[in-house]
This record gives sequence, C-alpha cells and structure tokens, in this order.
Amino acid sequence: MKNEQLSHSTIFPLGKKVEQYFTGDAYLQMVFTDPEPLNTAIGNVTFAPGARNNWHSHQEGQVLMVTGGEGWYQEEGKPARLLQTGDVVNIPPHVKHWHGATTDSWFVHLALTPGQTDWLEPVSDEEYSNL
Ligand code: MN
Repeated sequence: MKNEQLSHSTIFPLGKKVEQYFTGDAYLQMVFTDPEPLNTAIGNVTFAPGARNNWHSHQEGQVLMVTGGEGWYQEEGKPARLLQTGDVVNIPPHVKHWHGATTDSWFVHLALTPGQTDWLEPVSDEEYSNL
C-alpha cells in the first residue's frame, strides 16, 4: 500500500509527531519499553512521503522490521537499499546510516534498539534527491 491511507491503517498506533532529528513528518509510538525479558526498546515509526531521520549510529546496533509502505535504508558510502513490507534490516553497532520513506510512499517500521543512539546531521535534500 503506497497511498496516504496507510497512515491510518498501521498495525500499531501512529503515536506522536517526532520533533527532533527528523526531516519531514514522522511519528513515533513506543510499543515495548520494559527492561525485562529483553533490554531492547521497540518503537513503531511512521514516515510521511519524503520524511527521513538524520544520519545517526547505534551503540549496540538496531534491527528494523518493515510493516508498511516503501522506504530507504542507507549506510554511509553505500548505495541506498529499497525497503518494502516484510523486510528486515540488521544494522551493526557504530555504522553511520539513515532510514526513511520514499518520495511517493508512506513507510512504517518497527525499530528494535538495545542501546543509545548518536544523532548526526540531517540527510540533505541533495543527498535524498540523488537516490
Ligand atoms: Mn537507525
């Protein structure tokens, strides 16, 4: 599903608009924050078309599970990977990267993040438009 109805038909709640470290409209709903039995925060992130997070890295790595729409995942110095529903991304610790929607689709993923995130600069319009 690539149209705007996706934003109203996600598996988990849309949550609140993210105000920091993102370009465009994105929403976050934490779905698991208990310290047991796994010490890993799980958030549902919804990106409007064109929205993406800043370049960043995770001290303990991160796993993304795509639950809707189409998006991009890019590690620094590598071509971007197109993501679709059902895709899983294994992000190693300390690898600079970003993730976000394509220009014409909403994009929804679960983000499983066991450690801290180090936020960096925004993905520029030039970088994004050259995908
Ligand atoms: Mn990440």
